Amino acid sequence: MSAVEKLPDAAAAAPRCRFCSAPLSEVFVDLGMSPLCESFLPAEALNRMEPFYPLLVWVCGRCFLVQLQEYVVPAEICTEDAYFSSYSSSWLQHARDYTEMAIERFGLGKSSRVVEIASNDGYLLQYFVERGVPVLGVEPAANVARAAAVATRRAILAGAALPFTATVT
Ligand SMILES: [Zn+2]
Repeated sequence: MSAVEKLPDAAAAAPRCRFCSAPLSEVFVDLGMSPLCESFLPAEALNRMEPFYPLLVWVCGRCFLVQLQEYVVPAEICTEDAYFSSYSSSWLQHARDYTEMAIERFGLGKSSRVVEIASNDGYLLQYFVERGVPVLGVEPAANVARAAAVATRRAILAGAALPFTATVT
């Protein structure tokens, strides 16, 4: 049984907030149905049915977290990512410019720490590291987190209890 097949009961149940567990009753936006993003099908799968999931976005009435209901377990979608931010040279230039602005504006230095959630391949944090600013990157996709370790020249810590990999200095 695949991870995708394990969730129908949970998905059919009344949705609850993924942060505070309050029942969800307010729809933020309904974007219809969609297949999983960045799930590139191999040639042998092109004539098979592809699962579609609701892009029904809820907002929690208690903590205001905007969220999708969990239809697929994180291990199924968060271990590998096909998107690497560093493939775009214009995005890298923007990241470098942003870093310069943030260091000057906030007076960042070696006693600071920049934290980026969903830090991808280290496209942004590498510029803080170059300037001697300690960083913490949190990235659920192990393959792009490994690239972040190369870009930032920092060790990767992987927690067994969390589906995240962190790059720290
Ligand atoms: Zn909540």
